[in-house]
Amino acid sequence: MTYQPLIGTESLDFDEGQTRQSVEDAIVTKGATHVRTTSGDVWKIFTKLNKKSVPLNNAGRGPQRIGYAKVESFGVLIDDDEPVGEEPAAPAAANSPEAPAHQERAHALLSASSAHRWLHCPPAPHLEEQYPDSESDAAAEGTAAHELAEYKLHQLLDDEDSARPTSDWQDEDMDDYTDSYADRVMAELAQTKETSPAAFLSIEQRVDFSHIVPDGFGTADALIVGDQTMTIVDFKYGRGVQVDAEDNPQMMLYALGALRQFDFIYDIKQVRMVIFQPRIGNISVCEKPVEELRAWADEVVKPRAELAIAGKGEFAAGAWCQFCRHAPNCPAIAKQHFDILPAGDAPLEPTAPEPDTLTDAQIATIVTHAPALKKWLGAVEKYALDQANNGHSYDGLKLVEGRSVRKYKDADEVAKAVQDAGHDPYERKLLGITAMTKLLGKKNFDAVLGDLVYKPAGALTLVPTSDKRPEILPATAETVFEPITKGA
Ligand code: SF4
Repeated sequence: MTYQPLIGTESLDFDEGQTRQSVEDAIVTKGATHVRTTSGDVWKIFTKLNKKSVPLNNAGRGPQRIGYAKVESFGVLIDDDEPVGEEPAAPAAANSPEAPAHQERAHALLSASSAHRWLHCPPAPHLEEQYPDSESDAAAEGTAAHELAEYKLHQLLDDEDSARPTSDWQDEDMDDYTDSYADRVMAELAQTKETSPAAFLSIEQRVDFSHIVPDGFGTADALIVGDQTMTIVDFKYGRGVQVDAEDNPQMMLYALGALRQFDFIYDIKQVRMVIFQPRIGNISVCEKPVEELRAWADEVVKPRAELAIAGKGEFAAGAWCQFCRHAPNCPAIAKQHFDILPAGDAPLEPTAPEPDTLTDAQIATIVTHAPALKKWLGAVEKYALDQANNGHSYDGLKLVEGRSVRKYKDADEVAKAVQDAGHDPYERKLLGITAMTKLLGKKNFDAVLGDLVYKPAGALTLVPTSDKRPEILPATAETVFEPITKGA
């Protein structure tokens, strides 16, 4: 296969919404299916562009998106009878003419980042394939943070060739958080060197675990290899979900890939996996003996991967459904959510009894599942609205215009008109803490306002007992007053 460019991007300004729209139109009319990067890599694309990047249709095979600065052209792959395609990073087995078709699909299906999902629910990857993987702002921000973090580690290793990346997402907080990450990695390296002086740090190390998951590979943010202990540090810039290193399948797969590359050079006995998630103060560490990891690979991962490749196995709903693209259409998760409610006569139709008619066990179950249930309901509503907007109709539902509020046509003209009428159209308001921190800078904020800021106690909330926060005992007659004993 040979790549043939159809749309050059040298002179395009992607920050212009109009440009993005015209490129999208050109992609569709010219039939472009791939993008080539400035470094020569070619990737399959979705036709809808993101605000800052091109989403890649590779379902976990390498990067999920390419920033516009790295796009050289859009084009097509042309079959020129060569058995090996031009797509980058495709292991030979997957591209070989003899490779079984399921292995080619496996390459695109089973990513380490979604392993938590397909290990529990093997049918998920095939079902997710039908939906595009659109980029969120959080993902774009995470990419910018990783690039900055990578640069800082190169600096600490005296790599003078590395250039500081630029991004609209960078701010003082990102600078601080990436500094903390780089410090942590260097501290881990120093610790390893105490017992293994020849230990080394590899940044953004590609790891290949295709001996366990067909065509599986990924990139470890920081890998420290030495005798006895190998350490993987994963930098998480998100703050929505706290990530735990304990039994984290993505890190365990990366560890197995790294072991394959380095355990014949070093005598590695155990793997230390560190999640560094600075925005919510989460540093989670898990250490596992190498033998335990290998047993997990043989007994759990390999059979599950085979099921997932074949699209077989049982549906299993759970926490891993959170980012499943099939969730709005998945009967298994619908059943799980509706099953927690007292059953009505019709299937999947919840009754809505008054809370005080529920048993304690029912209330505990409902409260435990409420966050996931609300999120899922929102996802289903959004999916149905998207479909309806595209002409799909549902029995018993119709599209109507929602409630709207009056708006000014032109804010400047409104202000002038009010001033001409002799009034002040503006209100003065103290900036919120986030905006004030941006205005003063984080260090200055602490110096100027440190004594004037306090953190009130959070509102009480009911959570599962597994939650790590300490339990609060409410003030009741039993907890506040001592019982009076006779004769006291
Ligand atoms: S939503 Fe959950 S149960 Fe349904 S396919 Fe996705 S992972 Fe499986």
